Amino acid sequence: MSANQKRNYIAMIVALCILLIFGVLLIVKGGTEPGEFPSVESLPPAETQTSVPVLTETEPSSAASQADTSAPVTETETETAEAAETTMPAVPAFVSTNGNMHYDKGHIYLRINHSKDIILRLTGGLAKSQIEWSVSDSSIADVSDGTIVGLTKGECTVTARYENDVLEIPVTVRELTVVDNCTYVDGILVANKTYGLPEDYDPGTLPITEEAFSMLCEDAAKEGLNIYESSSYRDYQFQVTVYNSMVSGYSKEYADAYSARPGHSEHQTGYTIDCNTIDTNFGSTPEGIWLRDHCHEYGFIIRYPLGRENITGYAYEPWHIRYVGVEYATEIYEQGLTLEEYLDIDSHYPDEETEDTPAEDMPEEDAEDEE
Ligand SMILES: [Zn+2]
Repeated sequence: MSANQKRNYIAMIVALCILLIFGVLLIVKGGTEPGEFPSVESLPPAETQTSVPVLTETEPSSAASQADTSAPVTETETETAEAAETTMPAVPAFVSTNGNMHYDKGHIYLRINHSKDIILRLTGGLAKSQIEWSVSDSSIADVSDGTIVGLTKGECTVTARYENDVLEIPVTVRELTVVDNCTYVDGILVANKTYGLPEDYDPGTLPITEEAFSMLCEDAAKEGLNIYESSSYRDYQFQVTVYNSMVSGYSKEYADAYSARPGHSEHQTGYTIDCNTIDTNFGSTPEGIWLRDHCHEYGFIIRYPLGRENITGYAYEPWHIRYVGVEYATEIYEQGLTLEEYLDIDSHYPDEETEDTPAEDMPEEDAEDEE
C-alpha cells in the first residue's frame, strides 16, 4: 500500500468511526427526549418543581470560553436572547478610561482559594501581554497575568493598566463555612446539587420567609395581581420518599432528572416558596413578570432563571423564589446573576459529569470547609 493509499484508508476509518459515534449519540439523545417521559404535570408535585434537568448544550461552558484568553468574550451573546430579556437585567460591563479594555462579566465574585481568569475584550490593537495587573489589597486577592486568586474574605479592586488606559473591576472574596453540616457562603445557606443539607436540618418554613412573602403578596395585590403560595417547606424524609419512588419506578437517571436527591432540595432550607402554578408559562403572566422584577425588593430571588440551567443545575422555574435578604437579593438582581455565580459555587452531583469546572478549581474538600 502506498503512503497515499494508507492515508486515505486511515481517513476512511476515522470518518466511519465519527459517523458511528454520531449515530450512537443520536440514538441515545433520541431516547431521552422529554416527549418520552410522562408529562411534567402527571408527576408528583415535588419533583416537577425541584428538578427538571438541564441539558441545554447551547451555552458554552465557562471553562471553554475562558480557555482562549485572547478571544473576545462571547458567552453573553450566546445566551438565548429570550433569557437575557425575560429573566434578568444584563450583567454590567466595565470599560477602561481610554476605552480599549472591556470586561463584560460584571463584578467579580470569588471564593477563598478559588481562581478566575479575567478575560478582557481588547480593542485598539492592544495585546493581552501588554497589560499590567494589580490589586488594591493584596491580602484579599492576588492577580497575575489576568488570573485572580481569592486569599481572604473581603472586598478589593483589580486593576488592568496599559500606559494611561486603566480598567478597574470590583472584587468580592467570599468564605465558605460548614456549620452543623450545613454549608454557608458569607452567611447564605446553600442547598443545590453540590451542597446538601443534613437529614436533621428541619426548620420548617422560616418566619422571615413567611413575613417577606406576605408583604410581597400584599403589594402585588395592590396592583391587582394575585400571587400566592403553592408550596414551601419540604423535609428530608419527604424528599427520600419522592426520590426513591422515582428510582424504583423509573431509574436513577430519571430520578435525578426530575427530582432532587434527599438533602439537595432547596425547599428543605425553609427559605423557598413556589408561587402560583408550576408551569414555565407562569413566567410570562403579569404575576410572573411582576415577581421577576420586584421579588428582590422583599429579599427574594428567582432561583432558577431562564438560560442559566448549566450554572444552577436546574431548568427555568419562574415560580420558585428563594429568600436571601433584601441586600443580597437586590445585588443579585442588579448584577443579573444566579446564586451560584454570586457565591462562586458549583451545582452538580459528585457523580454527575461536569463540563465547566475550571482546571484550576481547587478540590472542594481541600480548599475550604475549615469550620
Ligand atoms: Zn420549588
